[in-house]
Amino acid sequence: MKIAVLKETRSGETRVAATPETVKKFTALGAAVTVQSGAGEAARFADADYSAAGAEISPSAADAAQSADLVIKVLAPSSEELRVVSRGSKLIAILSPFNDPDSIGSYARLGVDAMAMDLMPRITRAQSMDVLSSQSNLAGYKAVIDAAAYYGRALPMMMTAAGTIAAAKVFIMGAGVAGLQAIATARRLGAVVSATDVRFAAKEQVESLGATFVTVDEEAMKEAETEGGYAKEMSEDFQKRQAEFVAEHIKKQDIVITTALIPGRPAPRLVSADMVHGMKAGSVVVDLAVEAGGNVELSRAGEAIETGGVTILGFKNVPGRLAADASSLYARNIYNFVSAFYDKETNVFVADPEDAIIKGIALTRDGAVVHPAFEEVKA
Ligand code: NAD
Repeated sequence: MKIAVLKETRSGETRVAATPETVKKFTALGAAVTVQSGAGEAARFADADYSAAGAEISPSAADAAQSADLVIKVLAPSSEELRVVSRGSKLIAILSPFNDPDSIGSYARLGVDAMAMDLMPRITRAQSMDVLSSQSNLAGYKAVIDAAAYYGRALPMMMTAAGTIAAAKVFIMGAGVAGLQAIATARRLGAVVSATDVRFAAKEQVESLGATFVTVDEEAMKEAETEGGYAKEMSEDFQKRQAEFVAEHIKKQDIVITTALIPGRPAPRLVSADMVHGMKAGSVVVDLAVEAGGNVELSRAGEAIETGGVTILGFKNVPGRLAADASSLYARNIYNFVSAFYDKETNVFVADPEDAIIKGIALTRDGAVVHPAFEEVKA
C-alpha cells in the first residue's frame, strides 16, 4: 500500500497530514509512504526527518501522488491539486462537503474515493480519529492565549507590595470541545470564568471545570441537543432572551470567547455591535466561529480590529497557529483511522462500506456519490 502526503497549498494553511512519528508507524505496518518535499516545513518537520522515519521524498505533488492508494491531506485539494490524484486513489482529508458540495461531483467524476474526516461519527470507536475534536481543543486553548496577548492587563489576581490587581473576568459562549478547553485554559491562568451553551449536558461539564454556568432557560436546553450530540438552532424567543441576558452579562466581562456552531448551518449570531460597544475599553472578544459566518457581528475573518476601545480577534485557522501540535494530533487521527481499516495480511486498506465509520465519512466510491446527505449531487 502506498500512502502519499501532499503539501498544503491553501493560503494560511500551516499543518501537514503526517509527521515523522506517523510515517514511522505507517512504515511499521508495512505501508510505503511518499512525502512531497516541504510538506512539513510550516509545521517545522523537515524532509530529512521524514526520510529518517522511512519516507521517500518526492519533488512534486504529482510525483508523490502517482499510483498512491491513499492520498492524505489536511484540507480539500484545489481543482489543480485534484488533477494529480489518480483514478481509484482514496483521498482522506477535511473536505468540508457542506461548504462545497460541488467538489463531491468532481471526486466522483474523477473516480477518486473521497473520505471526509470532518464527518467522522461521534461514536466511542472513532474518538481517536475525531479531527474536529483534536483541532477544536487546540483552538480553544489558543483563543485564550491570543486574548491574553491583546488584553492590556494580567489574567490572575495579583497581590503585590504595590497593591492588588483584580482577576480578569472571562466569558465563554459555547461549551463544546473548544469552549471547554478555553474554560480550562482561562482558569489555569487565574481568570474568573463563566460560560453558556444551549445544550443541557454542557452545564455539568462547565461546572466540573470550576466555571459558573449561566443561561436564560434550563428547560429549553433539555430539547436543544441532537442525537449526535450537536446543538439545534434555538427558538426565536430563546434567542431574544439569550441576547438580552448576554448584553447585560458582557458589560462586566474583560474577555469574551465565542465558539458556538450548528452543523450544516451558519454560526448563530450571539454578540451584536451594540453589545460590543457596551463593553469596557480594553476588553477583548475572540470569535472562533468567524469562518462559519461568525458569532460576533463585527468580527472580520483573518483580522484583529478595534472598535470603541474593544479588540475583536477573528483569526482564521486557529489550530494552524499551533502548527506542530495541530499536525501531530491530526496526523495521529489519520493514522488511527487508516490502521483500523488496514489488512496486514494483504497489505491493503479495506474500507468496508457497511462499517459505521466508513458510512459516515465516505462521500464517493467507484465514481458514484454514496453519502446519504449528498445524494442530490450529480457525478
Ligand atoms: P460544535 O463545535 O458543533 O459547537 C460548539 C458549541 O456551541 C456546542 O457545545 C454547541 O452546543 C454550542 N452552541 C450552539 N449554538 C449555541 C448558542 N446559540 N448559544 C450558545 N452555545 C451554542 O460542538 P463540539 O465542540 O463539536 O461538541 C458538541 C458535542 O459533542 C459536545 O457535547 C461534545 O462533548 C461532544 N463530542 C463527543 C465526542 C464523542 O463522543 N466521540 C467527540 C467530540 C465531541
